[in-house]
Amino acid sequence: MSQEKIPYKIYLDEKEIPRNWYNVRADMKNKPAPLLNPATHEPMKPEELAPVFCEELIAQEFDNDTRYFPIPEEILNFYKVYRPSPLVRAYFLEEKLGTPAKIYYKFEGNNTSGSHKLNSSVAQAYYAKKQGLKGVTTETGAGQWGTALSMACAYFGLDCKVYMVKVSYEQKPFRREVMRTYGASVTPSPSMETEVGKKILAEHPGTTGSLGCAISEAVEKAVTTEGYRYVLGSVLNQVLLHQSVIGLETKIALDKYGVKPDIIIGCAGGGSNLGGLIAPFMGEKLRGEADYRIIAVEPASCPSFTRGKYAYDFCDTGMVCPLAKMYTLGSDFIPAPNHAGGLRYHGMSPILSQLYADGYMEAVSVGQTSVFEAAELFARVEGILPAPESSHAIRATIDEALKCKETGEEKTIVFGLTGTGYFDLVAYEKFHDGKMTDYVPTDEELQTYFNKLPKIY
Ligand SMILES: *Cc1c(COP(=O)(O)O)cnc(C)c1O
Repeated sequence: MSQEKIPYKIYLDEKEIPRNWYNVRADMKNKPAPLLNPATHEPMKPEELAPVFCEELIAQEFDNDTRYFPIPEEILNFYKVYRPSPLVRAYFLEEKLGTPAKIYYKFEGNNTSGSHKLNSSVAQAYYAKKQGLKGVTTETGAGQWGTALSMACAYFGLDCKVYMVKVSYEQKPFRREVMRTYGASVTPSPSMETEVGKKILAEHPGTTGSLGCAISEAVEKAVTTEGYRYVLGSVLNQVLLHQSVIGLETKIALDKYGVKPDIIIGCAGGGSNLGGLIAPFMGEKLRGEADYRIIAVEPASCPSFTRGKYAYDFCDTGMVCPLAKMYTLGSDFIPAPNHAGGLRYHGMSPILSQLYADGYMEAVSVGQTSVFEAAELFARVEGILPAPESSHAIRATIDEALKCKETGEEKTIVFGLTGTGYFDLVAYEKFHDGKMTDYVPTDEELQTYFNKLPKIY
């Protein structure tokens, strides 16, 4: 039987960009748990969120039933600038590993923001503009989300106010300057611009900030400034909805060559790229039409799925945001300074949390040094310099491919290569100089954070 050789890159035509986002919640029997009001512990009502989020995004957040959401023309036009993204067959990596496994990766790093986050930032900026707002506020840790949002705001002519964790602001001046190039204002957090910032600075003078604190500042700024709303780059249901474009494109490309994956792998910080990549495949699995092994990969230093608790928790340190039921390490868990900034969040998407609790997916955690070993091997054979976050997925893929080598199984593995690592060279430097650490929290340490979880059953 002759089979057409699968090309190195499967490119789709512009016309093949999906016209709808897919909402996996529509196919879930057990829906993700509702957000709770942090004061009353009652399910949050859409109108209670109106001062914080844009109207259409709130509607998407609460909609557990609509299967497809049409992608507005304006967003599709922006997608055309950098989508469809390529699905690459990792022939060189397969050869290097000597594995019979067939490896593919969906590459989301070929836009200036350098990651998949642009898929959701452009949607969120569009709905803010459509509502007639002046601008949006957000927080950024390592800077990827802030960069993606500033690009989207520049496109739609919206003001963009970013609170950047102070230590990153000082250590990552290049990301900061990319944001300013796109017109965003970037404030190191904690700042004197907000009440919560002033309070934290009074209590902890000289603090270098945290993501949780920057979220609290961004939310306060949004609700106290006329014509502004707050936007978030991961975790929320709406973000997973927008990111479904990744998985839908992947499926179209694989279907063209009649390829069915056995294993789908993605790194998990707040869960948005993984949720997006797996969406249509998970849909088939939920409807009983197909079966796939789905693996979330997280850092051993921030192991929400593998060692966290499935419980209601705060999404921010300031405890102003709604409570979400998710796998969590506790809202004031501070992970060891690990170099995959995008994977350092204490919680996890409520959608993925429910799917994991119901046994539809697996999770593994990997150590930092082994992640950079995988990153370096990948860069040398496949050419792309991967982001440290993405390299978690590379590590797990290599491990699965090596198992295939032992057993001789020709499994097909698809993984998400979420971004590039040009702004992460300090981390690569530490790795090359042998100065990288592999801190893993102890059970006792984690327990101190679990003890502080809100008591909601
Ligand atoms: C932010 C980020 C992640 C992690 O975020 P998710 O919401 O879990 O997808 C992964 N990779 C890159 C390159 C990122 O910027």
